[in-house]
Amino acid sequence: MGKITLSIDGIKVKANKGQTILKAALAHNIYIPHLCHHADLKPFGGCRLCVVEIEGRKSPIISCGVAVKEGMVVSTESPEIRQARRVATELLVLNHQVDCLECNKSIDCKLQKIISHVGIENGLVERLKRTANNTLAIDDSNPFFYRDPNKCVLCGICVRTCKEINGVDALDLNFRDYWKLSRKYQAGNISLSDIAVKGDAIRIAGFNDKPIAKSTCESCGECLVRCPTGAFISKTSVRTTREVKTTCPYCGTGCGIYLGVRGDRVLSARGDRNSPVNKGRLCVKGRFAYNFVNHPDRLTTPLIRRNGILVEASWDEALDLIATKFRQAQDKYGPQVLGGLSSARVTNEDNYLFQKLMRSLGTNSIDQCARL
Ligand code: SF4
Ligand code: SF4
Ligand code: SF4
Repeated sequence: MGKITLSIDGIKVKANKGQTILKAALAHNIYIPHLCHHADLKPFGGCRLCVVEIEGRKSPIISCGVAVKEGMVVSTESPEIRQARRVATELLVLNHQVDCLECNKSIDCKLQKIISHVGIENGLVERLKRTANNTLAIDDSNPFFYRDPNKCVLCGICVRTCKEINGVDALDLNFRDYWKLSRKYQAGNISLSDIAVKGDAIRIAGFNDKPIAKSTCESCGECLVRCPTGAFISKTSVRTTREVKTTCPYCGTGCGIYLGVRGDRVLSARGDRNSPVNKGRLCVKGRFAYNFVNHPDRLTTPLIRRNGILVEASWDEALDLIATKFRQAQDKYGPQVLGGLSSARVTNEDNYLFQKLMRSLGTNSIDQCARL
């Protein structure tokens, strides 16, 4: 792919032909504030935070919507840009229930990062933010996550994720008047208070403003992991102390996952973006159905029936017993008496090894529950 050289804030940068200015800057660790951009999704241009100046151009422009050009000179900071970003950030804080101390997204929140980057004074946040008087109801209809419209910044990432990545299209931005109002505010035609009242109307919801459980949502959680704020929060949100890289045990697809662990308990799962199988994506089982690992009834050691009662045994004891029984059955009835039933909940490689084992014992009677 052809490379282009441009300058961003005086730094010479190499970028791919067709790449946006925002992506080129981020690839070189030059932070341009942004909320509605996500690397997995098409450009949207909704939050207007990523404005930059381009030499030779009269007015600032959003960097997520413009491709790099050879010799381009870009500036990400100037009094005019700072003013535009401050206004765009005010629009975000307006109608936002800022309570970072109690919010599960705190530390990972992109809005928090932008507020601190733009430098809005605390008093302004307090004056603008959504308060108990105008809070919207939290949608807790999904079994795995909450959707809190009071923390939503209307970036549309959840809507586009569900549509562009999953093709499910369960969500939409309902009551879109807010966009028109925010453009009018940016043009200086209306005041913030006009939006505070009318802008309440726009919100993310299923078709016809229904709770998410009444939509076509498949609970994959892809929107949850991309939401930049605390508007989508897992119902089992607990900070973990370490991660273990592994493979999802639920089906033969073999998605790469990282399990979040605290003590001896598995408390979260996330997709491995470097896995060529799933590229970070997961289905509802891979993302949320890890609790069986912590179940007290789960078998963690082999059991051998002695005098009619199952008692704990070591793996050596169990494997010796199985080998003995296999041998006795083969000696008595021939090798074809054995059969092996494997599982869709192990990897293809494990299934391959299992059939090798059974064939080495002299039987071709091998099957797998995925056929059922
Ligand atoms: S979503 Fe972000 S800015 Fe809003 S309360 Fe939570 S941490 Fe704070
Ligand atoms: S959980 Fe998945 S299917 Fe449901 S709204 Fe989010 S992205 Fe769409
Ligand atoms: S719920 Fe999250 S991802 Fe969806 S529009 Fe609101 S802030 Fe953006």
